[in-house]
Amino acid sequence: MTNVEVSSVAKTYGQTPVLSDITTSFTEGSFTSLLGPSGSGKTTLLRIVAGFIAPDSGKVSIGGNDVTDTPVWARNIGMVFQNYALFPHMSVAENVAFGLARRGIKGEDARRQVEQALEMVRLPGYGTRRPKQLSGGQQQRVALARAMVIRPSVLLLDEPLSALDRRLRQEMQVELLRIQRETGLTTIFVTHDQEEALTLSDRVAILDRGKIVQIGAPSEIYERPRTKFAAQFLGDANFLTGTVVSGAVKLADGTMVRCSTPIGADGATATLAVRPEKMSVVKDGAAPDPSLNVLKAMVRAVIYAGPALTYVLTTAAEEELKLFAQNTDGTIIPSGSEVTLSWSPAHTIGVEN
Ligand code: ADP
Repeated sequence: MTNVEVSSVAKTYGQTPVLSDITTSFTEGSFTSLLGPSGSGKTTLLRIVAGFIAPDSGKVSIGGNDVTDTPVWARNIGMVFQNYALFPHMSVAENVAFGLARRGIKGEDARRQVEQALEMVRLPGYGTRRPKQLSGGQQQRVALARAMVIRPSVLLLDEPLSALDRRLRQEMQVELLRIQRETGLTTIFVTHDQEEALTLSDRVAILDRGKIVQIGAPSEIYERPRTKFAAQFLGDANFLTGTVVSGAVKLADGTMVRCSTPIGADGATATLAVRPEKMSVVKDGAAPDPSLNVLKAMVRAVIYAGPALTYVLTTAAEEELKLFAQNTDGTIIPSGSEVTLSWSPAHTIGVEN
């Protein structure tokens, strides 16, 4: 059940291509984050779905209807912005009722729907206040109520939590997720915060310079990143580069590293990604498990953070690696130690550069 479909959408400002050939779809009831660095085109894509920006080419459809030429107000979308965008001279209730009035819903019907929307965002009875009498978090709840009251078929959120402090932000994340689950609304959420994308969404689309480089469940992207950029943008990653020899990768020092994804023909240069928590240090004197990859490295620094340790290491080929270890037995391997690392080929992923 596809709700929102974007086909071959492109947008250029002056000479600068901002989105190139975006084709993707958002299934009914899904919560998708558009995640990428500043300037990657996230907001532009969201605004094209909303109708605030017209694409140079391509199509947008909502609920099976082509809305490419449909104005914002006729698309039946709910939108929440980073800066709340509430009308300061209107009461909370008037703000929430705004979209209803434009749809001809007035009087008792409007009053009831506004109160229901305020209850949903846990602000019952706040209708008579002015926005400036509310905290930032409460204002954002009003903005959410205003977006939801019209019963949109899609909810579009443009960094709605980034103006809030950390605690409020986490509280709002929980609220947002609850409301989204309760209403089953197809939601598209713009963020540059990977943790937020991971915890909120059932799908993440990673944008890099106007292109979606990967889209999938957070765990799918984390465990199977397709590109170096995706691997780095969602979580931490180690990269090992070498030459393909019989389906494995031979590093500059001759170490063979096996992996679980296709990596190209013999002789080609390949880059492998390994998450830092997937690697471990082989105990002194122990024989490494032959089913695992092994690699010699030198500890360059240890970052002690109580329950966890981060080791910064370098390989013989001068590649820098990170290793995350749980502080289970209080052992800290000092800087300058030579160690053997091991990890599973199943956690070794070939990535495009
Ligand atoms: P993001 O949301 O990922 O930070 P945007 O979609 O806001 O990215 O912007 C993508 C690129 O488009 C940026 O380089 C930005 O400077 C440029 N851009 C956005 N809006 C305009 C505009 N109205 N005119 C010219 N350039 C713009």
